[in-house]
Amino acid sequence: MPIDKVDKIWMNGKLVNWDDAKVHVLSHALHYGSGVFEGIRAYETDKGTAVFRLTDHMQRLLNSAKIYLKNLPYSLDELVEAAKETVRVNNLRSCYIRPIAFRGYGEMGLNPLDAPIDIAIAVWSWGAYLGEDGLKNGISAMISSFQRIDPNALPPAAKATGQYINSILAKMEAIYGGFDEAIMLDSRGFVSEGSGENLFIVKGGVIYTPSTSASILEGITRDTVMKLARDMGLEVVERDLVRSDLFLADEIFCTGTAAEITPIREIDKREIGKPGEITKKLQEKFFAVVKGEEEKYSDWLEYV
Ligand code: PMP
Repeated sequence: MPIDKVDKIWMNGKLVNWDDAKVHVLSHALHYGSGVFEGIRAYETDKGTAVFRLTDHMQRLLNSAKIYLKNLPYSLDELVEAAKETVRVNNLRSCYIRPIAFRGYGEMGLNPLDAPIDIAIAVWSWGAYLGEDGLKNGISAMISSFQRIDPNALPPAAKATGQYINSILAKMEAIYGGFDEAIMLDSRGFVSEGSGENLFIVKGGVIYTPSTSASILEGITRDTVMKLARDMGLEVVERDLVRSDLFLADEIFCTGTAAEITPIREIDKREIGKPGEITKKLQEKFFAVVKGEEEKYSDWLEYV
């Protein structure tokens, strides 16, 4: 997807011009994937632009860094403030926010510990990740032949740049196969998640989603949806799911900051159908919450 260029990018504590936010070709992270990053969205509300669960996202960035033994030179509060500042100076009413902390230029070889750490925060306008039509009518998905990274190979709890090569293989396979998205199984053969989304199914009025033992990234949208569903009186169960649970589900949807809540209408050519009632109710609630229309969840909105 092309990136809509804006004015400034925050880099190592300073706002620099978009075209000047450059790194050296021998940066460690470019060679070895030694970066950690986040994907965050800001939405337009009646009270101005609000970043959805910004502190939770920045905390996950720090957690990813901790897993990779990286001490970031900025505190949680400083990262939160930097993200808000980047949205403000670029005058965007709604946008996607991409913080990244990576091992920079100065060292080569696998030991990353002496390589400098660079941090950047970029923002740009980004519409529906899986398309407006996908959001409304649902997408098609396939179960990937690529297995989701295993916790003893690469920790799925970390949102690290190198780990996404796994998702990219699955995504390309899906696209070449004529599907919109890939769903990966974990090393045990249970359902894990999409290439960049968590997965939910609805069966008999109950919502099921794979637990953190199924090699998932613990999505912030996943957490949001579980809370909203429970507050709506719906039962949500975290448990292992197999392929046929997907084929026989009443409804399936995936969640992510980029994908928001996207229904899945077909999986491996088994028809699930049009977005179901529970999916639609959750979508409606979610968009009301992020747009600041639900007082009850106002703590999740961090105004810039
Ligand atoms: N799984 C993976 C692999 C992802 O990349 C993402 C997107 N960050 C998610 C799940 C969803 O996480 P979140 O809802 O926090 O964006």
